[in-house]
Amino acid sequence: MIPTFDETHDPARRSWVASANGHAEFPIQNLPFGVFSPEGGSPRGGIAIGDWILDLKGAFDMGLFRGDAEIAAMAASGRKLNPLLELGAGPRRALRRRCFTLLEEMSTERAAVEPLLHPASTCKLHLPTTIGDYTDFYAGIHHAVNVGRQFRPHSPLPPNYKYVPIGYHGRASSIRPSGAEVHRPRGQRKFPNAEVPVFGLTQRLDYELELGVWIGPGNELGRPIPITEADDHIAGLCLLNDWSARDFQAWEYQPLGPFLAKNFMTTVSPWIVTAEALAPFRLAQPPRPRGDPLPLDYLQHSHDQKAGAYAIELVVFLSTEAMRARNLAPHRLSRGTSVDLYWSIAQLITHHTCGGCNLNAADLIGTGTISSSEETGFGSLLELSHGGEKRIALPSGETRAFLEDGDEVIFGGHAHALGRISIGFGACAGTIVPGA
Ligand code: CA
Repeated sequence: MIPTFDETHDPARRSWVASANGHAEFPIQNLPFGVFSPEGGSPRGGIAIGDWILDLKGAFDMGLFRGDAEIAAMAASGRKLNPLLELGAGPRRALRRRCFTLLEEMSTERAAVEPLLHPASTCKLHLPTTIGDYTDFYAGIHHAVNVGRQFRPHSPLPPNYKYVPIGYHGRASSIRPSGAEVHRPRGQRKFPNAEVPVFGLTQRLDYELELGVWIGPGNELGRPIPITEADDHIAGLCLLNDWSARDFQAWEYQPLGPFLAKNFMTTVSPWIVTAEALAPFRLAQPPRPRGDPLPLDYLQHSHDQKAGAYAIELVVFLSTEAMRARNLAPHRLSRGTSVDLYWSIAQLITHHTCGGCNLNAADLIGTGTISSSEETGFGSLLELSHGGEKRIALPSGETRAFLEDGDEVIFGGHAHALGRISIGFGACAGTIVPGA
């Protein structure tokens, strides 16, 4: 079920936190959950509001909540938000509505709440949960075609693509929040004309622009999640960078798919932008092109087809060491949209569990790289550089086909809809450092 609209979606409402009004990421209509440490303090749950973070533990300790909101605030007070995600939409929405009331312009409780705000610039953000399992899909069809063309020119899309939401089980231990350094990995690569592979640092380090899905309540082993209920298991979304070593990938991916090409690191934006906050930005799943098969019955539901997509604009910026030294602004590499996903998030969840696999609260799912049909919206360097053949010119006079040490990749994401206040995800950034 898509979350219903309430006062927290009203575009006319403003906050007494001045920086929240007109804020590109965190206006009062967003209120994403995260885990932060205030200066000199321990990690705890918080909500981003403008340039500030509301301390949920402090608010809970002060007794600012009742009923479902109190249950959710208690679950959000610790060092990880797994208990909050496990509670599901009811308590999560109650906490959102209560925090909205506390932060709204007309609030009578400003004096109590103001001391619980910390300037975001002085806080450290952490991964919001302990992630048990991470699965990465391949639902961006333009990416699948672009990459497939490089590896298999005659049949870029595998024959199963339009029937099966393709995915693989990823590595949860190496997921880090925005800002964490990315160590250039070592592994095996084999040059096309060489007889044997060599071991060493990747020469084709890349990013993949994806959305991450935070799972709310899970399902029991042996009990699939039907497509009609899949939405109830989405707690919220984030931005996700599936860093990739393309030379390792080309050598290792057959027969079992990615391994060391992907497992060295994944970066996420640290705020959980909730299903409730995203409700106004739901769209119909774009109709499948003429001639494409319909999804099999277990992946089809009229409601999901009507509102299973999200209107999220996605941008990628690159900043090199030389650019930063010269105070040049990060260079935009691409701008695309999450509407270019071939499968809805509900379809990914239903397919993941159709054989009985159980998801747990705070599991993370990646959608797969999101590319547009146009080059301006390609979501990886592998695509933008045509497999490394075309170098991308940067404002510093430098060029890139793949990432070099010192390069910082920054993702941004913003949900837009006519007549609504846009909301953002905050940055998902990482800088490449030399391999150990
Ligand atoms: Ca990926």
